[in-house]
Amino acid sequence: MKKLYFLIGSQDLYGDETLRQAEQDGRCMAEFLDQSLANKVCVEALPIIRNSYEAEEACVKVNTDQDCIGVIMWMHTFSPAKMWIRALKALRKPMLHLHTQFNEKLPYDSIDMDFMNLNQSAHGDREFGFICTRLGIRREVVAGFYKNPDVLERISRFADVARAVDFSNGMRVAMFGNNMRDVAVTDGDRVESEIRFGWNVNYYGIGDLCDKIKAVTEEEIDKKMEEYLSLYEMDTEQIDAVREQAKYEVAMDAFLQQEKISAFTDTFQDLHGLKQLPGLSVQNIMAKGIGFGPEGDYKTSALSAVLFEMAKGRGGATGFTEDYTYDLTQGEELELAAHMLEVPPAFAANKPKIQVHPLGIGGKADPARLVFDGISGEGIAVSMVDMGDRFRLICADISLIPQPKPMPNLPVARMMWKLKPDFATGAAAWIYAGGAHHAVVSTALTVDDIRMFAKVTGTELVVINDKTELHALEQQLLLLDTIAERRGR
Ligand code: MN
Repeated sequence: MKKLYFLIGSQDLYGDETLRQAEQDGRCMAEFLDQSLANKVCVEALPIIRNSYEAEEACVKVNTDQDCIGVIMWMHTFSPAKMWIRALKALRKPMLHLHTQFNEKLPYDSIDMDFMNLNQSAHGDREFGFICTRLGIRREVVAGFYKNPDVLERISRFADVARAVDFSNGMRVAMFGNNMRDVAVTDGDRVESEIRFGWNVNYYGIGDLCDKIKAVTEEEIDKKMEEYLSLYEMDTEQIDAVREQAKYEVAMDAFLQQEKISAFTDTFQDLHGLKQLPGLSVQNIMAKGIGFGPEGDYKTSALSAVLFEMAKGRGGATGFTEDYTYDLTQGEELELAAHMLEVPPAFAANKPKIQVHPLGIGGKADPARLVFDGISGEGIAVSMVDMGDRFRLICADISLIPQPKPMPNLPVARMMWKLKPDFATGAAAWIYAGGAHHAVVSTALTVDDIRMFAKVTGTELVVINDKTELHALEQQLLLLDTIAERRGR
C-alpha cells in the first residue's frame, strides 16, 4: 500500500522533555490517521524535526521513497520557517498542511505557559504557511481537529489525488494512429504533457496491433466470448461480428500488457487491416479502468485513466464521453452524450446489450457495440485543453438524469444530463473556456478532487457550477490569459 509521511515540525529551544512529548503526540496522531485511512493509504510519522538539516533529510526521504505518494505537515510548536526553506525547495511530492491540534478542547482550568508552549500550532502553522506561500508551494491546507469526520474526509480525498498523481507520473499512453485530421481540440503538446503530468505518450502503427490480432487463437476468442456473455446480453445473431471484436480485445490486452500501457487512443481514419472500428472491445477494456480517447485524443484518454485511479474505492462511474446533441425545450434543456460506439459500460443503468449495426463513417464492416441507457445522479464533466502556453482543465457540475423517453432507433449507448447553473450559462461558459467535445465524466469525483489535482500539477482550472455567472467567468478567463502572457515575457 502507498504511504503518506507525517512530519512534525518544532525547534531546539524547548528542551528534551517538551520535544519528546511533541513527538509522542505527533506519532499518536499519525497512528490515528493510519487507522482511519487503513483501506486507502498508510500514514507513518518521521522523527520530530528541530532544524534545517532534519527538515531537509525528511524531505529527501519523502522524495526518494517509491512507496511515498505525499506528505502531511504539522507544526506542533513554533518552528522558525527559515529552517524549512531548503527542505521545501527540494520537496517534490504533494503536500497537505494539516492545521490542527493534539487537543480538541482548551483545558480552561489547567492551562498554563507549559501547555501553551507545547500546543501552539495556531502560531507555528502560520509561520510555516508564510514560507510556503512565499516560496509559491502549491499545497492543500486542511484546518480543524484531526479527528473531525470532515477533516478526515479531506485528508482521504488528498490521499486519492496524491495516489492518482503518483500513478500519472510515468504512465504510458499508446496512440494507434495519430490525431484525427484537422481536429484542433484533441491535439496537444505531448512533450509538455510528460513534463507536467508524467504521461509518456507514444505513437504506434496500427500494423503493430494487426500482427497481434493475426496471432489470436479461436480458443482465446471463445474465452473472451464467455466473458462477454457473463457481463452482457447478446442481442444479435451476427455472432461472427462479435467474435471479431473479441479478437481485437484479446490482441489489445496482450499489447497493453506487453508495453505496460494504461491508456490508449485509436482513430477511425487509420484502421488498415481491421474489418471493424473497435467498439465492444474498447468498451470492455474501459470497464477495466484502462483510459481511452477516440480520434487520437490522448489528453482525454490519459485523463480518464488518472481520474479512474483517483476514484478507486469510491463506487460511482468514471469514464470518457462526448457531447453529441441536445433537447432544447426552453427551460428544460438536456444534453445527450454518446459516441460512435465507445461509451464506457460503467455508465449503464441497465444490462448492456451487444448489438451489431452499420456505421455510417469510416467505410468498415458493421461493428458490434454495447448499447444501454445511462445512469442518473450528480457528477462532473472534466475536459483538458492545450492553450498553447499551458494546459487548462475545465470542470463542470452536471446532473445526470434518466432519459425521458426510449430511443429505440439510436444504435449506441447514451447518457443524458442537465447543465449548471442552467443551460444557457453552463453551455456558454464551457464554450468561452474552450472546453472540448470530449470529456471525462464521473459520479465518483467532485470538483474538490479536480481542484486538488489542478493545484498539485500546477494546471489552470476553470470551474462551472451553480455559482457561475458569465460576466465574472469572462473576466476570469481574461485574467488567466493576461497572467499567462506576463509569464511568457
Ligand atoms: Mn469524438
